[in-house]
Amino acid sequence: MILQPNVVGVPNPVPSADSRPYWDGCAAGELRIQRCASCGHVNVLPSRWCAACAAPSMRWVATSGSGSLYSWTVVWRPQIPAFTVPYAPAIVMLDEGAAVMSAVVGCAVDELTDGLRLTVMFVPTDHGMVVPFFRPAATAPITVPSTTASPT
Ligand SMILES: [Zn+2]
Repeated sequence: MILQPNVVGVPNPVPSADSRPYWDGCAAGELRIQRCASCGHVNVLPSRWCAACAAPSMRWVATSGSGSLYSWTVVWRPQIPAFTVPYAPAIVMLDEGAAVMSAVVGCAVDELTDGLRLTVMFVPTDHGMVVPFFRPAATAPITVPSTTASPT
């Protein structure tokens, strides 16, 4: 069984003023993180101030969308019935040095391995959000069943 993105009937992210550039990036097919213009520190959680040097210099930048599987779990009992199991929430270490939370799709559970090279893919939800998932970089993109909504 190939892991698939859960995008129908599941809770959707609610962008805040600080996280809106991240979600706008997803809708544009771009995975964004923040980088400090003063010291270069990268950050995933939106902030106006750098966690390393405290400068108010955090800027949104596009990433390559590539990284490695750092940690994951496989969920076999869904938190709510809308989630199709199994699914694999994961922490992906981006090549830019930031760790992002997502889920791995496009491979079987037993193919998940430490350091697996991954690439981002964006999938629209049935509520009009576009969310990032990661698939193995060495495999062809997966076909995702369409949702009724179009990305915003
Ligand atoms: Zn800094």
